[in-house]
Amino acid sequence: MDPTFHRAGSVAVIGRPNVGKSTLVNALVGAKVSITSKRPQTTRHRLLGIATFPQGQIALVDTPGLHREQGKSTASAMHRWMNRAARGALEGVDAAVLVVEAGRWDDEDTLAFDALKEAGVPVVLAVNQVDKLRDKTALLPYLAKVSAGREFASVHPISALKRSGLEALVDDLLKLLPQAPPMYGEDEITDKSQRFLAGEMVREQLMRQLGAELPYATTVEIERFVEDGELLRIGAVIWVERDGQKAIVIGKGGSRLREVGTLARSHMEQLFGRKVFLETWVRVREGWSDDEAALRTLGYHD
Ligand code: GDP
Ligand code: MG
Repeated sequence: MDPTFHRAGSVAVIGRPNVGKSTLVNALVGAKVSITSKRPQTTRHRLLGIATFPQGQIALVDTPGLHREQGKSTASAMHRWMNRAARGALEGVDAAVLVVEAGRWDDEDTLAFDALKEAGVPVVLAVNQVDKLRDKTALLPYLAKVSAGREFASVHPISALKRSGLEALVDDLLKLLPQAPPMYGEDEITDKSQRFLAGEMVREQLMRQLGAELPYATTVEIERFVEDGELLRIGAVIWVERDGQKAIVIGKGGSRLREVGTLARSHMEQLFGRKVFLETWVRVREGWSDDEAALRTLGYHD
């Protein structure tokens, strides 16, 4: 391709929780900027992942999945906030990639598709997790079914986890972007600070290590983030709502919290390219997830 012909713009990554949006963003960026786990609603904040290629640059807007708000759940303010963040992500983007799980199309997928059409952006469909499909012959009829009556700029079966099908997806996304010079430097991979990313790395390990046992209303606050020569000294507070939850997070003899800390630290060192000294504490604050003011002090603001 002519090196002077360069495209740049932003693309919203939309879909229901747990389809693999953040995994896709990381695969395209080539680094783990967005945390992922088997638990739905792992992503709580809007985040830019910047993917730079010789022929163009895509600023990917990763979002919490659009989902139904569940009435008076304990975390309803959090749900409202997450949906706002997902919808807000559509403002000013050049295109969107709608991520769905191969073989499935739920009401929530229709909800996401309709929201995109309403926003008037071109939509590329990424049919993710094709590596999990046992019967590969089911793929073609599925693609025909989901694209019937719905207008997509293009449709791509992919595996974000195995990184297959991504080159063609990138090519088609770039076609939807304006001809423009890069918006970000080649080494910029996200719009979030290292401090923010450090908190996310701890939250990711909490989700992965505790699974369904993790109280939904758990959040992480980075209380200390200081450079000490070559070393980064990071202090993270894990906020839970009740004493019982604190015990669950800490685990027998502190084993769980140690595991969370060790893994989070290793991911931080990988992403930041330097040694990290990480300390973690668990503290109790009652009812914060349904309290808009408390959410704001913990960084959940638009
Ligand atoms: P999000 O909520 O849409 O951002 O989903 P995540 O990116 O957090 O992924 C949810 C889960 O699906 C994680 O456990 C991922 O490892 C897994 N996952 C994502 N993409 C793929 C894929 O292509 N194949 C398989 N087998 N798993 C995937
Ligand atoms: Mg996510």
